[in-house]
Amino acid sequence: MLNLLNQYKNNKSNNKNNQKTSIKTIKNNHNIKMKRTQIKQIKEHISKQICIKGFVQKIRGQSKIKFLILRDITGTIQCICTSKDESLFEQISKITPESVVSIIGLVKEEKQAPSGVELKIEKIEILSLSEDLPIQVIEKNKTETTLPKRLDYRWIDIRKTDKLKIFQVWTSLEIGMRKYFEKEKFMQIYTPSFMSTPSESGAEVFEVKYFETTAYLSQSPQFYKQMALAGGFEKVFVVGPVFRAEKSNTTRHLTQFTGWDFEVSYVDEIKELIDIEEDMIISCFKQIEIDKLIDIKIPQKPFPTITMKQAKEILKLEKIKSEKDYDLSPEEERKLSQIIEKKFKHEFVFLTDFPTQGRPFYHKRYDEDKTLTKSFDLLYKGIEITTGAIREHKLEILKKQAIDKEMDLESLEQYFEFFKYGCPPHGGCGLGPERIIMKLLDLETIKEATLLPRDVTRLTP
Ligand code: ATP
Ligand code: MG
Repeated sequence: MLNLLNQYKNNKSNNKNNQKTSIKTIKNNHNIKMKRTQIKQIKEHISKQICIKGFVQKIRGQSKIKFLILRDITGTIQCICTSKDESLFEQISKITPESVVSIIGLVKEEKQAPSGVELKIEKIEILSLSEDLPIQVIEKNKTETTLPKRLDYRWIDIRKTDKLKIFQVWTSLEIGMRKYFEKEKFMQIYTPSFMSTPSESGAEVFEVKYFETTAYLSQSPQFYKQMALAGGFEKVFVVGPVFRAEKSNTTRHLTQFTGWDFEVSYVDEIKELIDIEEDMIISCFKQIEIDKLIDIKIPQKPFPTITMKQAKEILKLEKIKSEKDYDLSPEEERKLSQIIEKKFKHEFVFLTDFPTQGRPFYHKRYDEDKTLTKSFDLLYKGIEITTGAIREHKLEILKKQAIDKEMDLESLEQYFEFFKYGCPPHGGCGLGPERIIMKLLDLETIKEATLLPRDVTRLTP
């Protein structure tokens, strides 16, 4: 604004005798808004003057000509300047890689340019000059910079097109998820992260000082989803932060991740929940296809489904060691997925009927076999991405199950209240989108699927 004002004043004093010229000069000036064209659209403007803005990816200099590669979120374009225009040539010599600039220039067809068009620079304005880069945007090979260093400078790291893609895919995935929930008339609810008691069990919970008392960061929106159904909402979903004080340094655990959760009333069997999740995932994958982001295989319904008992038998035949008969180890998950993929050509598999030992107290048990829960996990390309279950909604049974699990009943008093004044039978599940993205894009670690990962040692940036 100040710049404009000064120019206006200068123009005014220089052109005292020619007021019309002064106004015209201002209108043509680079600082005056000329509509910005995104790089993807440049081909529609051959032989026209346009304004583009973005990061300077590279400058190649020769004595008579300079090539500047400009990048915005839609792509890159080669811009040129010859030494005939001395001041412009000199100005470009001072620009460092990754500076942000605004360029006005003429679009020309150029067969030799990488995109078939180039921009002849007429004016350039530096909007932000970059200092020496701590990490490179264009790397010689993908392992040039270590992951921790890249994460330290994440905002530079995500300028790379393959990193940008991760978050574009995530956005599509989420749009697909919302489309499904919208179509099926789910209600979106927001649940608190501060809790007076841990939501599941004590071990993986973060304690925070909360004025004169201690609060706990929510490990899942589980209890609040159920409360909403006790409130008569019938179908709810949540997108929110989930906190786990997991000391494990694995490629699939974060201390904060995003939880996609849903919960529905009047369901009795896990098949009904599985059906919902299948449709939701198909909607997510279809959206990625619609947005043409990557080649994607849409999973077919019904996804393969096997019981935990069957899974253990198959794994035994494959001579895979089993540590617990009520849960799968990461190796068992990987192997089971491989077997299913080979047999059914499917990347997903629902694993059902977990023994009570491996499940929380609120999972409903089968009437005909109280040692088994009406619960499931969904595995995708070898890792768990979802846990779901029909919930126990009868207070007396719920309390008994909590006692069986040696839970502290006092800390569950508030939760138990939700079941006292009429509560529909219900069920639902919790899903980790970071894990889906990681597997969908074959990323080495979940940290790559997260804009700003939090793990045992990382709290910045
Ligand atoms: P795991 O056994 O793999 O640690 P979990 O059974 O503890 O997972 P749940 O409590 O069932 O996880 O959480 C629901 C979903 O949330 C998981 O299926 C997974 O997709 C995701 N999730 C759980 N823990 C993490 C984590 N620490 N980091 C990222 N995603 C997670
Ligand atoms: Mg789980």
